Amino acid sequence: MRLSKYYIPTLKEDPADAEVMSHKLLMRAGMIRKLTSGIYNYLPLGLRSINKVSQIVREEMDRAGAMEVLLPMVQPADLWEETGRWDFYGKELLRLNDRHGRNYCLGPTHEEVITDLVRGEIKSYKQLPVNLYQIQTKFRDEIRPRFGLMRGREFIMKDAYSFDKDEEGAEKSYFEMFEAYKAAFSRIGLRFKPVQADSGQIGGDFSHEFMVLADTGEDTIASCKSCDFGANLEKAKVRLPEGVCHCDETNIPAMEEVDTPGAHTVEEVCEFLNIKPSKLVKTLLFIIDGEPVAALVRGDREINDVKLRNLVGGNDIELADEETVKKVTGAPVGFAGPAGLDKDVPIYADRELCLGTDWVAGANKGDTHVKHLSLGRDCKVTKFDDLRVIEPTDPCPECGAEIEFTKGIEVGHVFKLGLKYSEKMEATFLDENGKAKPMVMGCYGIGVSRIVASAIEQNHDENGCCFPPSIAPFEVALISLGGKDQDVADKAEELYAEIMKLGVDAAYDDRKERPGVKFAEADLIGYPMQLVLGGKGLKNGIIEAKDRKSGEKTELPLDGFAEAFSAWRKEIWSKWGLELD
Ligand code: ATP
Ligand code: MG
Repeated sequence: MRLSKYYIPTLKEDPADAEVMSHKLLMRAGMIRKLTSGIYNYLPLGLRSINKVSQIVREEMDRAGAMEVLLPMVQPADLWEETGRWDFYGKELLRLNDRHGRNYCLGPTHEEVITDLVRGEIKSYKQLPVNLYQIQTKFRDEIRPRFGLMRGREFIMKDAYSFDKDEEGAEKSYFEMFEAYKAAFSRIGLRFKPVQADSGQIGGDFSHEFMVLADTGEDTIASCKSCDFGANLEKAKVRLPEGVCHCDETNIPAMEEVDTPGAHTVEEVCEFLNIKPSKLVKTLLFIIDGEPVAALVRGDREINDVKLRNLVGGNDIELADEETVKKVTGAPVGFAGPAGLDKDVPIYADRELCLGTDWVAGANKGDTHVKHLSLGRDCKVTKFDDLRVIEPTDPCPECGAEIEFTKGIEVGHVFKLGLKYSEKMEATFLDENGKAKPMVMGCYGIGVSRIVASAIEQNHDENGCCFPPSIAPFEVALISLGGKDQDVADKAEELYAEIMKLGVDAAYDDRKERPGVKFAEADLIGYPMQLVLGGKGLKNGIIEAKDRKSGEKTELPLDGFAEAFSAWRKEIWSKWGLELD
């Protein structure tokens, strides 16, 4: 491609609304343009990168035996009503009407559509398993679209769906996708980590998120410094504390009320009573599928509502509102405690609370707390279990070594769905005995456009992007500094033809711009390899070659250029840990 004929509208300044580097650089390098909030035009360079990511993902999906389809973006409401998600999905679902007043939505994901397709086509166990995928634009009306391609409202996703005849098959499909994801992200050149994620009612280790490690990530992950363990915070188990259970001990003074006027928060109560937060039991009231539930954690800990929801076995969890708190505890917010709660409200306690006794807690009475609370003696705990959020000072739940918290960007998600959709939508097949059974499903997403942004987050410097060669818009920039020197211009043309012949995509800067402008632009766009031909080089029979990422420069001979260039190119790829195919 000749830059003299190509459209790359670079910008000198960072756009005012761009907070993260990838957003700034994608705009400045002329790769994307904003149409409206969370919705972008992909310009020629940006689309090239997106297409390269798509192609790698496609190849790895095909290799794993998945088959590409393309499903409609507009989906009828009836299907979403079958699964109950028409109501449940909420405001992220963009809904529309046709001329007959019928309801539709723009697909944020395609479980309903694919399940509908498969139930109409697949009748026998002999036709299973199948795995179908597509690469397509999704629409989600995100509450806070931001960071450019990172969290758009319209974005490109690869979504795959597997259908199996039994659990065993579904697990096999799951791990095949897991491996395909590792292969794809490695080929793209990302530094990533698969982490355990919550699988809701499915249980087991059947949900993993693939995280690109970057400080600007919106997700926090806990990972072990010594073993492979990694999990997002809502999933990470807390290692069972060892010690004696003190719940049933009776050798503490009788529970006693103390006045704590105006002390609502843990800090206020602790200051007032001059105790440490770890001596206090924090009581939180939740509504799970419409029913109130109390949860207890130590005053210095945070409750993990996903763990609570899974323990109780519900779908929908939210903190109780003021009115419910008053009804259940008889007191305003801030004074709930486990002793004297409405008897119908089950109490779930973090198991760390077994290790202590003689607690301070709310008295279920305005401006009052209790001292000398024993969880065994003074109230009835339904169950003790792991209910809190892991902290950086906790040991690794798997090996006990130190852990650390890092930031990550979720670029992929693999999930075993089980029978969730196939039962509701009656996607059944006849098994070996002629009996109808629901198919066991899995779903697998990759954020294709988000990957381009993540790659920039991981690879940039003060001058611009440093794209991995596998997904750079062009692998090589050939910069001709001929000016009016016709010999240089002629030689550059020749080299460009040679590079093309090697099947390498090159951006040939044949423009009549100043050298400084050409260099700055090549650095900004971040072509991984730069070749610079000037009058002096031509005279000496060499061309200058620069590795964009490290800045290292070398000289390649003009005589035997193709061979020297191919060897250098291989070297650059291998510096990225990438293999040339
Ligand atoms: P997030 O927690 O970031 O909102 P999600 O859990 O909603 O992600 P999935 O439904 O699993 O995401 O979608 C599959 C993949 O699509 C994600 O792993 C992510 O890479 C990508 N993705 C999701 N939402 C967006 C978005 N708004 N913009 C760009 N990519 C997205
Ligand atoms: Mg989301």
